[in-house]
This record gives sequence, C-alpha cells and structure tokens, in this order.
Amino acid sequence: MMHMFILPLSMAFAALQPLPPDGAPALNLPVDCIVGRSCLIQKLFDHDPGPGRRDYRCGQLTTNGHDGIDIRLRTMADMRAGFAVLAAAPGTVLRTRNGEPDVSVNNRGALDGRDAGNAVVIDHGGGWQTQYSHLRQASIAVRPGQHVSGGERIGLIGLSGNSEFPHLHFTVRHLGRAVDPFVGTAPLPPCNSEVRTTGLWTAVTAHLLGYEPSAVITGGLASAVPPKAVTDRDPPPMPNGRHAPLILWVDAIGARAGDYQAFSIAGPDGQIVHEQQSVVEGGGLSWFAYSGKRAPAAGWPAGRYTGRYVLKRENAIVARIETTAMIK
Ligand SMILES: [Zn+2]
Repeated sequence: MMHMFILPLSMAFAALQPLPPDGAPALNLPVDCIVGRSCLIQKLFDHDPGPGRRDYRCGQLTTNGHDGIDIRLRTMADMRAGFAVLAAAPGTVLRTRNGEPDVSVNNRGALDGRDAGNAVVIDHGGGWQTQYSHLRQASIAVRPGQHVSGGERIGLIGLSGNSEFPHLHFTVRHLGRAVDPFVGTAPLPPCNSEVRTTGLWTAVTAHLLGYEPSAVITGGLASAVPPKAVTDRDPPPMPNGRHAPLILWVDAIGARAGDYQAFSIAGPDGQIVHEQQSVVEGGGLSWFAYSGKRAPAAGWPAGRYTGRYVLKRENAIVARIETTAMIK
C-alpha cells in the first residue's frame, strides 16, 4: 500500500473586489472537489491573441487558444471514485452528450468533432452560457429543457473527448464568445495590478480557486520509471522487492527553466539512501521528473521508505510532495 501526502502551499490572495458585469451569472465552483487537494487547476484561459500563451495573472498556466479552465483529478482511481460536476449557476440545460468513452485521446481514433466528449451546456439567460466538457461516460444526470439550480449535480469528471487526463473543461460564453471567468467582460487588469476582481465567480469561489502557478499532481516510489501519461499509470507503480531499483517520480504542473528541484529518499531508519538536486531545463505546463538508484548488493532493508520532492523558484518552495511506500 502506498501512502501519499500532498502538502498544500499557503495561498496568498490579493484584495478581491466583487465586480459583477451586468446580467452575468455569479458562478459557483463547477466541481465537488477541493482545489489544491482532491483536484487542481491544470490550465487557465489564454489571453494572448497571438501564438503565445498568457493566463489572467500573466503567467503561463494555459495553452494557445485555451478557451476555458481545466480542473483536473490526480489519478485514474480518483476518476473512478467519482467527483461530481456541478451547475455553476441556475439555468436551463440546452444540450447534453453522454455516450463517449473515457479513453485518452492518444489511445482512440478520430473524434469526429466530438472534442468536448460527454458534455452539458447550460443557458443562464442574458446571452450567458456555461459548458462542462469531458464528463464521465453515462454520468450525465440532466436532460435538455431541464431547469437546474446552482450547485446541482449534472455529471461526473471524466476523460471523454479530446482529453489526456481526467478533468473538467469549463467554458463560459457571452453572446457566443468565450469569456475568462476569472476576468469577466471587463478589460484584463495590467500584469502588475495589485487589485483583483472576483471576475464572474462568487467571492467565496474566487477565494477557493486562488492562483497556483506550480503544483505537484502526484508522485510515488517505484522500481522502474513509470509512464508519463496518467492513463498509463493505472494501477500506480510500486516498489518491487528488496533487490529492485528505487525511484522517486513526480508529475507536476508549471515547472520553469531555472527552477531548482531536489529529490530525496529516506530508509526505514530515517537515513537518506538517495539524494539528487538539479536545475530544471525546459520545464513547462506539464513536468514529469524522477530520480533513483539501484538496490545495494545486500538489498534494501525492509520497511517503510519516504520520498520527498521539492521544486524551488528564487529560493521559495513552489511545489512539493512527500510519499511513502513499503519494501518487503
Ligand atoms: Zn481544457
């Protein structure tokens, strides 16, 4: 049995000022999960009009042309456990799709335009709509024409459509144009602005969402380097006995070139059995890294091992994980 502890970083918030645009729905969190714990924001809305990428905080937590926000689960087991997708505001269901399989887009054939996978579109009046994409197959709990209240369960987070990991892609549209829920229809504040609005979110939701440019999604101890794709790490890899190599791996978000990363593995007696530090080259929205060593000639002493990974930027820890596993 592998135990994993995700250590949340303290979230700093600038002053949040409610500034609801005329007629816009006040949006609640569209998922029943705790952001930074059971789920993570993997991608934000792209504000760069060109081929570049820029999120609402002028960071790079987005991809070119990304028209919504992605709230992801950490593992396939979490997807199977089932995390509900919730209507962000009251409205009327316009459209649904429910029959697409929960398969990584890398492992299936043509999508034939069904990139959203299983999805729900809700009309909120005044030209405002929200769309919930990549839901779990057969999980859609609403039908077109049905009125839903804010916070009502409409399905489960899944992997259907153009998706490589279990997540909700949440899109807000006004008069057919995608709008960043963190900003609304007002102009994007300058990068150095200290004043933040809640965008379209309720004040409570805006606080829950925060802004984390880097995070560890998951990690563990294993005997071989596990696959990079979360869909191929199911079940999660484990150490395989006293004579196999011991590797600490992490799957992270938002490592940057020049960041510093440190791996360490401690044995049952607390002594460090492996350590490695390096400067991140490249980095990126998705960051998969590992470090480990072969078993000593006499084999690893049996017991519980603890892996620790820290990602630092300008001497501040921006992401970390502590994970343990038994070697028998
Ligand atoms: Zn997305």
